[in-house]
Amino acid sequence: MLYLAKTIEEYKDIKSQIVHKSVGLIPTMGNLHKGHISLLKESLKENELSVVTIFVNPTQFGKGEDFDKYPRTLEQDLQHIEKVATSPVIVFAPNDEKEIYPNGFSGKVSAGKLGRILEGEIRPGHFDGVVTVVKRLFDIFKPDNAYFGKKDYQQFVLIESMTKEQKLKTKVRGLPTIREASGLALSSRNNYLKESERQKGLKLKQTLEKVKSILKEKKELKPALILIEKEMKTDSSFNYIAIKDAKTLEDPKEVKSSIVILGNYQVNNVRLLDNLEVEF
Ligand code: AMP
Repeated sequence: MLYLAKTIEEYKDIKSQIVHKSVGLIPTMGNLHKGHISLLKESLKENELSVVTIFVNPTQFGKGEDFDKYPRTLEQDLQHIEKVATSPVIVFAPNDEKEIYPNGFSGKVSAGKLGRILEGEIRPGHFDGVVTVVKRLFDIFKPDNAYFGKKDYQQFVLIESMTKEQKLKTKVRGLPTIREASGLALSSRNNYLKESERQKGLKLKQTLEKVKSILKEKKELKPALILIEKEMKTDSSFNYIAIKDAKTLEDPKEVKSSIVILGNYQVNNVRLLDNLEVEF
């Protein structure tokens, strides 16, 4: 039960013919893998209608980033979705950017201070683009539930807080990171990597694991911060490794309740992202 809509008009038409109580939204940029599909499967369980959007959002890419070469694989994406679509799924994949950003679009949203740390420091303006497109998608589809991967942890927290600030009714759900057997977090950008580079990328998760064990063992921040400093000094491929409060992304004063360790590791020109949550 798969439907394809290229315009909002087409979407409305299809939707009007599907009996449903709730709508689940899965925003993506396409080139779907098991991570994306895990979000869809959760939506299929919880909603009678699921909407997967496939839109490579220009406003979240900076100058010189990979907007032009980002993989666009709609046919293959539809096949992946069809295999799991046990209830109706509408794929919204606009050809024309104006469906999302009509002329005179005035719905820009700021991600605020938290949008300028970690990924936001490396990619200025990135999160403003992310929250803007998500707000627009929420306005178009008015989902009851929306599904995001915690693989992009900072993005998930920012979307949650935007939804609260804007007093939107959508329930924002964060789901676990899906990984390759090697431990590497799945990402569409992994396709840019050669096998040897993928191997090198494993260092990110391994290092986050080391920081996690020290936190668990010592229950103190200092030894973990010393380890982070050492790892970053000895391997310049780390753009950052940071320990943050899992809810607010602020610097924790001590090791208690929930903490997240986030990292960005550069292999060739590809910035790999990963994180581990730690509960105390
Ligand atoms: P993207 O197409 O990269 O914008 O991702 C669309 C959604 O899929 C976002 O909510 C991502 O966080 C999520 N996602 C991407 N990779 C993974 C993964 N390995 N595991 C779980 N969710 C993921």
